[in-house]
Amino acid sequence: MPILRVAIDIPLPQLFDYTAEDAQAEDIGRCVRVPFGNGEKIGVIVGLAASSEHAPGKLKPAGEILRDLPALPRDWIELCEFCSRYYQHPLGGVMSMALPPYLRRGKLPAKRKEKVTAQTSECGAAQALPELLAEQAVAVAAISSGFGCYAAHLLHGITGSGKTEVYLRLIEEALAQGHQALMLVPEIALTPQLEGRVAARFPAAKIVSAHSGMGEAARARGFIDALEGRADILLGTRLAVFAPLPRLGLIVIDEEHDASFKQQEGLRYSARDVAIWRAHQRGVPIVLGSATPSLETFHHARRDGGRYRLLELSRRAVAEAPPTVRCIDTRREKLQEGLSVALLDAINIRLQRAEQSLIFLNRRGYAPVLACPACGWISRCRRCAANLVVHLADRRLRCHHCGLEEVIPKQCPGCGNLDIHPFGRGTQRLEEYLATRFPEARILRIDRDSANTPTKWQALLETIHAGNVDILVGTQMLAKGHDFPLLTLVGAVGADAALFAADFRAPERLFSQLMQVGGRSGRAALPGEVMIQTEYPTHPLYQALVAHDYASFANNQLDERRQAGFPPFSFQALLRAEARQLDDSMRFLKNAVATAQPLPRDGIALYDPVPMRMYRVMSLERAQLLVESPSRPALQNFLAAWMSKLHALKAPRELRWHIDVDPLEF
Ligand code: ADP
Ligand code: ZN
Ligand code: ZN
Repeated sequence: MPILRVAIDIPLPQLFDYTAEDAQAEDIGRCVRVPFGNGEKIGVIVGLAASSEHAPGKLKPAGEILRDLPALPRDWIELCEFCSRYYQHPLGGVMSMALPPYLRRGKLPAKRKEKVTAQTSECGAAQALPELLAEQAVAVAAISSGFGCYAAHLLHGITGSGKTEVYLRLIEEALAQGHQALMLVPEIALTPQLEGRVAARFPAAKIVSAHSGMGEAARARGFIDALEGRADILLGTRLAVFAPLPRLGLIVIDEEHDASFKQQEGLRYSARDVAIWRAHQRGVPIVLGSATPSLETFHHARRDGGRYRLLELSRRAVAEAPPTVRCIDTRREKLQEGLSVALLDAINIRLQRAEQSLIFLNRRGYAPVLACPACGWISRCRRCAANLVVHLADRRLRCHHCGLEEVIPKQCPGCGNLDIHPFGRGTQRLEEYLATRFPEARILRIDRDSANTPTKWQALLETIHAGNVDILVGTQMLAKGHDFPLLTLVGAVGADAALFAADFRAPERLFSQLMQVGGRSGRAALPGEVMIQTEYPTHPLYQALVAHDYASFANNQLDERRQAGFPPFSFQALLRAEARQLDDSMRFLKNAVATAQPLPRDGIALYDPVPMRMYRVMSLERAQLLVESPSRPALQNFLAAWMSKLHALKAPRELRWHIDVDPLEF
């Protein structure tokens, strides 16, 4: 009797075997009902076998094979298997996340009546396409000449340099050759405007969107349209990387550096990295586009013969000066609630001219390090290249890299100064101050809540475009794909905290945010200006911003990372644990280190566990442990062997743990 190998969504890494009299090879990839525990679950058939490692009498018969649902193709199963291996996550869990909720529950969405659109009028008004600039033409030719083969391209160009135009031309080529195109964009960038721009360009194509904010039925229909080859263009956020696309011919990732491509719970995957694997698997080109590529990507592209090909768009497509960037030296100035006279004056001028200002507070939860303003001393780890993080709760400094721990010193070890403090304070009351200082101004806050859904983001955009706001204040950036003609001033406050943050990616994020927000501001008639308040006006990061020189910034950072042995020159994974008591989390991690002792650990560094800085969240107390290696395969082999030991470790019942491979946040 045939045996089904079934992936089920439970937190255990193995597959489950069931007998099924009527099973056939075509059933691989189908969903199936199976008895599990006292109940029933729906799993995915990933293989058929003649025998099982379990005694035949022990196997239960499977329930119904759901043949009304489309079978998932072989390459999709392989994609999930790769993610399961690479991210150390059970295959059933990967599949359950990759499937839209309807299919996961074994249901088909109701058929939607196809809208019969009168396309003639739109076709009649077909857009005249702009003639490509020389660099755009080079990029399009380089990428499209390689259709049918894997190749990774980095399309590097500032905002407005015409990257989207390049994507659209490539998609056009791909469709003309009968391919499907997959385009991934950051969460907040998937707006009706972008969908509209794509739809207007391809009136005859079937375009499907995929993001988590969609209704479940629509998401399931889109997934099936993709799987059955009806969708021509799939436009989506990170989860769209899991769409089955039988005619896939091109993958585009816009704003490839964006942190929203990394999922921060459950399967902690990077959609960008998965998309690279996917392009390789399917033998198709992939384009990574950005004004400020991630350093990992840039590293692969910067050398001749590197893994990615670098294509540059070096100027704006429509002749316009980029915004001027300058630093305001705040060392000798008494700030007013964090704001300098120069910035306040600049805001005032914008108010008089009925233009808009954006005050960007760099308050993103950077783990603060201790600094001495008198001599420039900062709390560095003496065991490794990282900075020590201030934990005010128990007045300690901790290295989140290697685990070293010290008490907070009472005075500066460098010069004896008593006034040493963590970076990044003093911007708390800035918004209230702006309101009292400019009582006539309309002030709008942009934060996670005010811009976290497409609808809210849309409303925010309309307010800005209609000119119904004078001063925007926020920690959030303004997303891709929009010009804000009235926004002519961007002031950055508290940026220095990122220069010396314990998180080694903080400078990269700061650079990218300031570059992006500057790129959105102003337009031909009203050029934009970016003002950065800083105590370090000569810092190379700011100098590179002033010169609009991403490459010098990136090369500089990569040199530092190479010296410190940080990614991309090493590969990392974090083991995190959370429990009612911090002691339990720490003990689990210490035991985890102990179980690793007998494993082959060539080139693997296992550091000491550390409590997380925000160690208590929703009454759970969290700690983490870093594993690092200069070799990705070595790290992968170690993690695979370690996982089975971890699953066997004894721990308090409520303790939860997970592994984060290639973590972005510490
Ligand atoms: P990016 O994606 O790099 O920000 P876009 O592709 O959106 O840039 O282009 C910015 C603006 O320039 C858009 O209004 C676009 O229509 C226009 N544009 C792009 N390429 C050209 C071109 N070759 N000729 C004229 N205008 C162009
Ligand atoms: Zn000092
Ligand atoms: Zn250290």
